[in-house]
Amino acid sequence: MTIQWFPGHMTKARRQIQEKLKLIDVVIELIDARLPLSSRNPMIDEILQEKPRMIVMNKADLADPEVTKQWVEYFKKEGVTAFPIDAYSGYGVKDIPNQAKLLLKEKIDRQIAKGMNPRAIRALIVGIPNVGKSTLINRLAGRNIAATGDRPGVTKGQQWIKVGSEMELLDTPGILWPKFEDQNVGYRLAVTGAIKEEILNVEDVAFFAVKYLSQYYWPQMAERFDLQKRPQDFENPDEIVEVMEAIGRKRGCIMSGGRIDLEKASLIFLRELRAGKLGRISIEAPY
Ligand code: GDP
Repeated sequence: MTIQWFPGHMTKARRQIQEKLKLIDVVIELIDARLPLSSRNPMIDEILQEKPRMIVMNKADLADPEVTKQWVEYFKKEGVTAFPIDAYSGYGVKDIPNQAKLLLKEKIDRQIAKGMNPRAIRALIVGIPNVGKSTLINRLAGRNIAATGDRPGVTKGQQWIKVGSEMELLDTPGILWPKFEDQNVGYRLAVTGAIKEEILNVEDVAFFAVKYLSQYYWPQMAERFDLQKRPQDFENPDEIVEVMEAIGRKRGCIMSGGRIDLEKASLIFLRELRAGKLGRISIEAPY
């Protein structure tokens, strides 16, 4: 589902999260492992302030494992705990309560030293639409809780979900807007399907992806689409369009007169990429 993020909605979304922050000990910032920075909210630091938090890189099953490792290092250097998961299969999900405990260790130790019995850690998941918040909530809960595609501005009674004996999770996630200002961010989000095709032109989105993959994932491209000629100059649009045409030819996207139907080729290419048919691909690297 696409959300129209008008300034008023952003203010409201921000206020809703700040209200929820009062109730919790730790934030789980969910991002997409294939495009970690592009799938973050631009004001996240300002919104979360000093609240302890971890970055959880979801959909790691679709991301390039080598690049994901680099991102983990990148965030470590920034002083933030980050680790990959796959909310779908559950890979890495059990690390979340453990990391929450680590993040709050000093506070918990102080409580124990005072003879107090520490209560369960309260957590909130935040992230942009489509990053997998509802899938993760259901996975942590071990049952179906949140309707996928939750909307900002729709308030329902909040409840705590027990995650083991040491963590509780708010059942409604915090939904934040992505960085619209940067066009490349928009393209990266669109490549993954997080932004609907009606917003950005499908051929432009495919062009962006074909250019990136020709540069960084050529063997996978060549094998999947039987490509012979790798672009020499990635900044030359004609060479990228040639690759798109070769993909179209391979997939039978031919119009009357023999011209390649680039729109159809773009749709097919993006569908295969999103379905993981080209293998595990990241479309943003830290270095
Ligand atoms: P939300 O808008 O953040 O709540 O996102 P959803 O939980 O609705 O997930 C958006 C889409 O991503 C759905 O189609 C999910 O099935 C899919 N998804 C969520 N987590 C994963 C994951 O770890 N791996 C893969 N491959 N897909 C996922």
